[in-house]
Amino acid sequence: MIEPLDPMAFKKIVFFTGAGMSAESGVHTFRGAGGIWSQYRWQEYACQQAFERDPQKVLDFHELRRKEALRCQPHAGHRVITDLQQRHSAVFVITQNIDGMHQRAGNKQVIELHGSLWRVRCRIHGVRLDMAETYTHRRCPDCGQWLRPDIVWFEDMLDEEEVQAAQYELGTCDLFISIGTSAVVWPAAGYPLIARNNGALCIEINPEPSENCELYHRTIRGKAGEVLPRLFAAAL
Ligand code: NAD
Repeated sequence: MIEPLDPMAFKKIVFFTGAGMSAESGVHTFRGAGGIWSQYRWQEYACQQAFERDPQKVLDFHELRRKEALRCQPHAGHRVITDLQQRHSAVFVITQNIDGMHQRAGNKQVIELHGSLWRVRCRIHGVRLDMAETYTHRRCPDCGQWLRPDIVWFEDMLDEEEVQAAQYELGTCDLFISIGTSAVVWPAAGYPLIARNNGALCIEINPEPSENCELYHRTIRGKAGEVLPRLFAAAL
């Protein structure tokens, strides 16, 4: 039994999502059984040093991730967020996912903590959108430098602007819903605590217990695509 929520009873709602949100669409997780890092060594594919050693190999790997993401479709849980955003002006998404699935479902106001598969960046000329299944350019058309996926890889710092934007929404929301994250990656793992300390009602949706599930006021054991439509059934 899932007790439904009235979104209009809250001034600001933050959905905080991890790999489990996209796993239900068919996108591989990175950790755990069948995860990407059980097949590939991140040291060869997902860090700046690997890129400098062999940019083609790293770009080929990320092209595969793009193809995989495009074969998958947003699910009912993503669509609930889109519907809520049409009714409520302060619904935000903070995601650890890089696959762009939220945007493909029509979600707006999405803070991408770990960057995006759909952007590349040139060390000299900055960030560009590249939405193609295969990279439109592997080198910057202006200076010829290799274009790096605009993703937070292992050993990278998070983008300070995204972190600040996330902190602001966490500190001002009164409903925080965490979906499909095992809460082992920092600083994201501390986000429920920030929201809770600022007075938000904190809810977790995950079929499995996560590292910090005791921080939540309510924990709903189930899949995002099944739980979200029921949680907001009264409003949609
Ligand atoms: P994680 O892989 O560590 O944990 C996934 C969590 O999702 C688990 O707790 C699991 O029980 C839960 N889950 C599985 N199916 C679910 C469902 N249908 N509904 C709700 N929950 C479900 O993921 P993480 O905590 O996001 O950390 C992984 C890191 O890897 C992040 O930094 C992220 O950037 C990155 N990543 C991104 C993608 C992507 O873009 N799709 C995929 C894999 C990993």
